[in-house]
Amino acid sequence: MSEIDPLRPTYLEVNLQQLRKNVEAIRAHVAPAKVLVMLKANAYGHGIEGVAPFIEPYVDQIGVAILDEGIQLRKLGITKPILVAGGTLLELVPYYLKYDLTLTVSSSPLLQAAEEVSKNAGKKLKVHLKIDTGMERSGIRWYEAGPFLEETLKCSHLDIEGIYTHFANSETLEEELEEKKSAFSYASDQLARFTQVLDFYKERNIPTPPLRHTANSAAILNLPESYFDMVRPGVMFYGVYPDEDVRKTVEINTALTWRSSLVYFKKTRAGNPVSYGSLWAPEHDVNIGTIPCGYADGYFRRMSTLPKVIVNGKKYQQVGRICMDQCMVNLEADTAEVGNPVILMGIDEASGERITPEDLAACAGTNTYEVMTNISARVPRVFIGN
Ligand SMILES: *Cc1c(COP(=O)(O)O)cnc(C)c1O
Repeated sequence: MSEIDPLRPTYLEVNLQQLRKNVEAIRAHVAPAKVLVMLKANAYGHGIEGVAPFIEPYVDQIGVAILDEGIQLRKLGITKPILVAGGTLLELVPYYLKYDLTLTVSSSPLLQAAEEVSKNAGKKLKVHLKIDTGMERSGIRWYEAGPFLEETLKCSHLDIEGIYTHFANSETLEEELEEKKSAFSYASDQLARFTQVLDFYKERNIPTPPLRHTANSAAILNLPESYFDMVRPGVMFYGVYPDEDVRKTVEINTALTWRSSLVYFKKTRAGNPVSYGSLWAPEHDVNIGTIPCGYADGYFRRMSTLPKVIVNGKKYQQVGRICMDQCMVNLEADTAEVGNPVILMGIDEASGERITPEDLAACAGTNTYEVMTNISARVPRVFIGN
């Protein structure tokens, strides 16, 4: 047996050409706006070490949530601008300069710390100003932006490249359908507040920072007025619509296939419960397959007995409690063998059967974002189409 990587039969196949197609479709849709793709959280679970170097030539900027992710990208050899979107501690500002990362400035103390670091280093730190238009997470609230922007005009040591805000309504769950109309008009309210903040520059007859940006995936699909100079797609870059009822104005497709193989096959007699807690027992004799994937891999325990699994191109019911490292599937009367192919999420090309991130999200009572970002480090990422 050759030492091919991975030895483990459970792995996540990532189709890089599909990611490229997704980003090109987004670019065509938003042109002439620039595209910053969000590669936070291990590229939404896809594996940053494979996704980032491949996608870099096709994007204008890259976004991450935390400083460490930005440093990791620089260490991978990424040279394009990297925006760190999350909040940060004041004492970490020097790292942004050291690794040439764009700092999100969301408060006056952070602005002053950045100005100080730049001044002392004799090098301009690149910053984007963060306006809070109704998320109440971080950022200068739109109604108090004037004095803050006044302050930024005095920071001669900073390269103030951008100004942005973030929408609060991108990942509404299905149960909240009723509230969606108001969520959508809330985005319009946020947009109006952002435009009002930008009037600060108009009134003084000075240019805004060159990159004004607001749009996440939902806004790219629903709100063309939100594009400004750049957009920030996350989930849709990975081929997943942010919500059930967004306008599907851009054609995208998922790049993930979560694969495994049966490691055990047996007949279970009627009445004999399967797995921990004896949650489920067959009413008649059935064939049961064991899959070497469990909740430590991100196949959530709370989905137990709910998801479907594709085995040999056909969909079957997962049964019994999902264990840490394994789970069982009810093959009914069908026979199978150890080594037969399993798809936990993705499309079986031959049969056309599919299990989507939305399917698993529904089983787990969460959104597609959590499903994708929780596929754990133990699951090797295999990049195809490079
Ligand atoms: C994660 C994130 C995005 C992308 O959101 P999606 O809903 O995945 O498109 C955009 N902007 C910021 C600031 C983010 O943190």
